[in-house]
Amino acid sequence: MNMLTNHPPTSELQALDAAHHMHPFTANAELASRGARIITSARGVHLTDSDGNRILDAMAGLWCVNIGYGRDELADAAARQMRELPYYNTFFQTSHVPAIALARKLAELLPGDLNHLFFASGGSEANDTNIRLVRHYWAARGKPEKKVIISRRNAYHGSTVAAASLGGMSAMHAQGGLPIPDIHHIDQPNWYAEGGNLSPEDFGRERARQLERAIEELGEERVAAFIAEPIQGAGGVIVPPETYWPEIQRICDEREILLIADEVICGFGRTGNWFGSETFGIRPDIMTLAKGLSSGYAPIGASAVSDEVAEVIATAGEFSHGYTYSGHPVSAAVALENLRILEEEAIIDTVRSEIAPYLAERWRSLAEHPMVGEAVIVGMVGSVALTPDKAARAPFASPPGTIGTICRDRCFANKLVMRHVGDRMIIAPPLVLTRADVDVLIERAWRSIDETWQEAKRQGLLVAG
Ligand SMILES: *Cc1c(COP(=O)(O)O)cnc(C)c1O
Repeated sequence: MNMLTNHPPTSELQALDAAHHMHPFTANAELASRGARIITSARGVHLTDSDGNRILDAMAGLWCVNIGYGRDELADAAARQMRELPYYNTFFQTSHVPAIALARKLAELLPGDLNHLFFASGGSEANDTNIRLVRHYWAARGKPEKKVIISRRNAYHGSTVAAASLGGMSAMHAQGGLPIPDIHHIDQPNWYAEGGNLSPEDFGRERARQLERAIEELGEERVAAFIAEPIQGAGGVIVPPETYWPEIQRICDEREILLIADEVICGFGRTGNWFGSETFGIRPDIMTLAKGLSSGYAPIGASAVSDEVAEVIATAGEFSHGYTYSGHPVSAAVALENLRILEEEAIIDTVRSEIAPYLAERWRSLAEHPMVGEAVIVGMVGSVALTPDKAARAPFASPPGTIGTICRDRCFANKLVMRHVGDRMIIAPPLVLTRADVDVLIERAWRSIDETWQEAKRQGLLVAG
């Protein structure tokens, strides 16, 4: 029996999964007792699981399936490339057509003078590249002591040792002796959770100025770069106050440090423009790309680098860094086809002019629910904060994620994928969502939140902490 096309019953698959498959970001013992949800196919914005349920995927997989599932053009591009040249490397003075074509296309789409691409297999690897790139850059400019990278608490930059160090997830740092040296974290611009009595505008400026103070304390001669996501994704879809990015940009302009925008989620239309940097007026020296670059159809990531940084690196001899799959021809061919579809079908224009405004209007209506403290959204990425006390923006007394997990499970039961981060519920649906899909999404989200509210009341969990 071919297990992929004619699969055993769900319970058998779950037992095999638990016996042999170690899952990322999962309590594996708990998973073994409950059994994984097994997804067997997908089309458009819908998943099908091994029991035949059709589920609206409001997370686009893991924030990546921007053009939606089931596009034959990408399958054809992959098959064509596998037949013609399934693999060759880009090391040691060699290259191939897909990597060249993708680099040129990205240089055309990227803002400013981000005209140079270093490829990786995903976002974590690209951020590892960025660490080595910025340190090598300053060393090449005769300042090898400029090594410290400033990042933020509750940032997510990936899961390798270096990328997890760069990120500011305390649960990740608690395992395996992270962070590595010379990474410094400042606070996040999360007004809802940490803004207290400040206005969002004052709070945004105040949090940005932490960067200025950190540079002063560490010494500008030691700081290589600042890295941040335009909108924090895995941290809970934290949209910074409007004052935040202009102030960060001012500080970076005035200091001799590089600015890295981690656009792994925000890139490729997520915020209603090609890049989140355009939405927020950020002018990065380096950009991290992955996820939507191939709409998740093949693993690929990249560091996009400015003319100036690329020139310094180019003239500094050999950059002793690279991945076997840097610019993998199949991934590059798939990414190119994805970009063609995004562009020719004007998907991002439709998002900006039509779907995102409608989704925003409907998403914000969730804030009318008694357990929703705020509902925020930019383009096609949004979150709601669940709370027992709206006026106080209070967290629950129960351990963070208790209510979020209930809500996530209610969503699955109602055939909707929303993810929880603590007690925030988040969405990042495919960009090809229709208005009718938006109506279904909001209806299921409201129902799931409402059922969670009833359940929290029943369990006596509607208590502020
Ligand atoms: C997902 C993500 C990464 C890591 O990408 P991988 O492809 O999982 O290695 C890095 N940065 C951000 C902002 C992400 O959301």
